Amino acid sequence: MQAQTEERRKLVLDTLKLAEKYEHVCHVLNFDLETICPPAAMEEQGDLIAYFEAEGFRLTKAPAFQEAAEYLYAHRDELDEADRVMADQLHRTYLHTRNITPEKMKEFSEVRNRAYVRWIEAKQASDFERFAPSLEDIVRIQREEVALRDQEDPAAPVPSVYDRLLDDYERGMTTEQLDACFEACKRRLIPLLDKIRKSTVRIRTDFLSRPVTDDAQARMARRMLEVLHFDFSRGNFTTTEHPFTDWLGRNDTRLTTHYHPDAFLSSIYSIIHESGHAFFEMLQPEEDRDHYITGGKTMGMHESVSRFYENLIGRSEAFIHLLYPMVCEIFPEAMEGVSERELYEAVNLVQPSLIRTEADEFTYTFHIIIRYEIEKLLMSGEIRTEDVPALWKAKYREYLGIEPVDDREGCLQDVHWSFGMGYFPTYALGNMYNAMYYKRIKAEMDLDGAVAAGDFASVNAWMADNVFRRGNRLTPAEWIREITGRDFTPDDYLDYLEEKYTDLYKL
Ligand SMILES: [Zn+2]
Repeated sequence: MQAQTEERRKLVLDTLKLAEKYEHVCHVLNFDLETICPPAAMEEQGDLIAYFEAEGFRLTKAPAFQEAAEYLYAHRDELDEADRVMADQLHRTYLHTRNITPEKMKEFSEVRNRAYVRWIEAKQASDFERFAPSLEDIVRIQREEVALRDQEDPAAPVPSVYDRLLDDYERGMTTEQLDACFEACKRRLIPLLDKIRKSTVRIRTDFLSRPVTDDAQARMARRMLEVLHFDFSRGNFTTTEHPFTDWLGRNDTRLTTHYHPDAFLSSIYSIIHESGHAFFEMLQPEEDRDHYITGGKTMGMHESVSRFYENLIGRSEAFIHLLYPMVCEIFPEAMEGVSERELYEAVNLVQPSLIRTEADEFTYTFHIIIRYEIEKLLMSGEIRTEDVPALWKAKYREYLGIEPVDDREGCLQDVHWSFGMGYFPTYALGNMYNAMYYKRIKAEMDLDGAVAAGDFASVNAWMADNVFRRGNRLTPAEWIREITGRDFTPDDYLDYLEEKYTDLYKL
């Protein structure tokens, strides 16, 4: 490496190290905001986060830093892979943000924080009207953000606003690809759902809503994390309204769950899901951390991992074999007279429902398709925010045959729109990626045997080597091709569902 390049590389790394400190502070404050921060303090805390975000952002806006980062990008041939990925990521951020002043950045951040607070109020009151002005603001700032960006290739045609938002979360993904993918899902899943509905197989569910205490659920959550091989020296968990995982620092990954007194499986599965997210972050190569490129993985990759643990493992017969004695011990009253097979069937019950986070594995994709279709229309201006509740109802009726009675269980149920749009499709893509690498892990190790024996050290090690390792450095299309040797396809996922549910419902 040339001396001039080395000098700039050092400046870039030193600045990123400092910027990471601001980010760290924001994550700690945000985790607090979403867990134990009292309601009256939320707006103030939101302002505090916006302030530190803007300060961190200012560091990377310094002319010397930008010159150095762009120099590295221009001399990327001299760099090794980790440095090159760092230069690529910085260049992309530079194009996205160079026209955004710290004041603009602060304004966007404040709009989002306000929208989050309004969303909580609106959801509690089940009154979409209260959230509608904030949703309008979100649509407006997202259009503005995208309009302020410079394209990587200025000569290329400008993609739609929604395509550019999608690309933020799932690099390289387009509405054209997604439309085709979701059409394939509808084509195969709608007739299959119809058959499931007509099946004479009756799955027992009475025990699922038997009352349990928070105390017992907290014990179960901890036990589950221990079984999954979660490292408590580098992570922790607590409760919140809407479960999520956050990576605060190199040795600090936290996840959250929610205890429903009449749905003990809910917290168990949210713990498994969030553990997947946590592992992906905790088991990152150190070299990637040292280059500050761990933000390179996409949301679709992340969801593929969380859903791999939650569904492909968590809802398998092998896992239920492991789980059954634990739930019998911790929830003896709820599990009284329930067999292992009944537990397996219950965790795989197919039942069209209104709440995405409580949806079964089979109908889940419909919840995403509905949000995706509405988001596209909102961003293109084909519908207005006030049209959302009615359209939401109509689509639930069309795809799932049910509709919400109020906004709380309708279009206000998810937090995402207080941040922005383009994120939801990554949930569905995750299911499709993981079905692809599920085939490979099963060919390479006795996955069911390891799961039934509670040997998550082996499972996690396979995931770290094959799935986690290159996530920061590749686009999703390259990544899935490198893991599986094949191009992205929804077919493995649709085959998996068809096979599993044909068997379960004796279709
Ligand atoms: Zn998730």
